[in-house]
Formats: sequence, C-alpha cells, structure tokens
Amino acid sequence: MIDCHVHSKFSTDSEMIPEAACDKAFDVGLKGLTFTDHLDFDFPGADSFDNIDFVKYSIYMDNLKDKYKQKLSVFNGIEVGIQPHVLEESLKAVKSVDFDYVLASVHIIDGIDPYCRDYYNGKSKKEAYELYLQKILYAMLNFEDYDNIAHMEYIIRYAGYNDRTLRYSNHTGILDQIFRELIVRGKGFEINTGSFRDKHGIVTAQYDAAILKRYRELGGEIISLASDAHNPYYIGYKFHFFRDMLLDCGFTHVTHFEKRKPVFTSL
Ligand SMILES: [Zn+2]
Ligand SMILES: [Zn+2]
Repeated sequence: MIDCHVHSKFSTDSEMIPEAACDKAFDVGLKGLTFTDHLDFDFPGADSFDNIDFVKYSIYMDNLKDKYKQKLSVFNGIEVGIQPHVLEESLKAVKSVDFDYVLASVHIIDGIDPYCRDYYNGKSKKEAYELYLQKILYAMLNFEDYDNIAHMEYIIRYAGYNDRTLRYSNHTGILDQIFRELIVRGKGFEINTGSFRDKHGIVTAQYDAAILKRYRELGGEIISLASDAHNPYYIGYKFHFFRDMLLDCGFTHVTHFEKRKPVFTSL
C-alpha cells in the first residue's frame, strides 16, 4: 500500500523531515509515499499556507525519489485548498510544476475554518455537513486540474456532535452527485484516516461503509488510502483496518498516482 497524503517540513503546520517520513513508511511496510504539502491561497488568519517554492520542493522530491529508490517509491504531490476566489491562481500554481499527484481539498467554508468551531454554531449536523459537501462539489466542478478529492469527511474532525459520523443516508443526493461527477471525470477520492484518529477522551468517529459501497455500486474504482500525517507516528495509520473495509465494500484495488496517471494496486 502507498500512503497518498503526507505533509513535511515544507508545510507550515508540519516539522517532519521528509527522510524521516520515508524511513517510517519503510519500517511499517508501505511500498510508497506521496508528499502532498499545502498550497492554500488566502487562508483566513494565516498567510503562510501559500509560501512553498514548489520548484525547489520538486527538486528536493526528485532527489528523495532517487535516494530511496531501492526501498520505497516516493511521489511529488500537492494538496491545493480550493475557495471560489482562488481558482485561477491555484490552477496556475498546479501547472507550474510536474507533480505526480494533485489533491484538491476544501479547508474553508464561506470564509470560515471549521477548525474554529464557530462554523457549527446554529447549524444542525446535517446542515453543517451538507454545506461542506456542497463546497466539495463546487471545487470538483470548477477546479479542473486535480486527481483526487481530499478528505470528504474533513468536516467531522472538529464537529462537537455526540455522533460525528458522516452518513450516506443523510446526504444521498449530494453524495451521489459527487460520485457520478468523479466517475465521469476519471477521478476519485481518498479515505483520509487522519479523520479517524483515536484521541484520549473523544469518541472516535466511524467511517460509514455505505459511502464506499454506494461509490462502488455507481462504478467508482479510484480510491486512495491517505493518512494526512504531519509527523511520522501517523504514516500508514489504520491502513489495515480500511483495507479490510474496502474489500468488504467490493473494491479490489487501491489507487495512487504517478505523473498524474492512476496506478492500481491489488488489495
Ligand atoms: Zn487537508
Ligand atoms: Zn493534508
């Protein structure tokens, strides 16, 4: 398996040395690692999520690929945060470098970061989650240059509800639309295991298998495993659990991307 979503010291919110990430990935038996450092233009309250020189980053990643080629496949990716007013500059940045992988994500909803819990005030769980899914659909339809959608369940991470699980049955219309649009475009999404971390004193959210079953039923094939690790501890986190879930839901392969092309590996 390949971990398709890892941050390193290039991202403002990570101090992980890329070599340390590679060593950990090798130690836990992964076949590869895709670095997806952040590009978020106009991130509220921070101007430091758009400060990576991706040309230098790519040179670093190319050297890393070479250094680890006997042990591990290393891929050069980017996680680009989509908001309606940053589409053009994001597109330009993505095109400026030959990435292996472009992950499109939504971190900000109508100018609000759900990390600041205000987002949830006055919204039912269904409303809060539905609005997030609408932003993902918007990103998918308006930002063309990506391979996978990141963390569709990001919205559960900071929610204060007793049951934080994102359920297919509560959002059938929009999830079906997202799946159909992804399939028709030859794109997919990731299971972001970072949204399911066990934390002391907090009930771990569940992943609703009905989401995966429905995507598969509609013909979805492209699905990636992604830890969203910002430190070595979380690399490959819960991959065995989610591998079994994927098999149960009818998937036979996981996908990673090389030079922007999907590569399927048998589960
Ligand atoms: Zn993200
Ligand atoms: Zn991330």
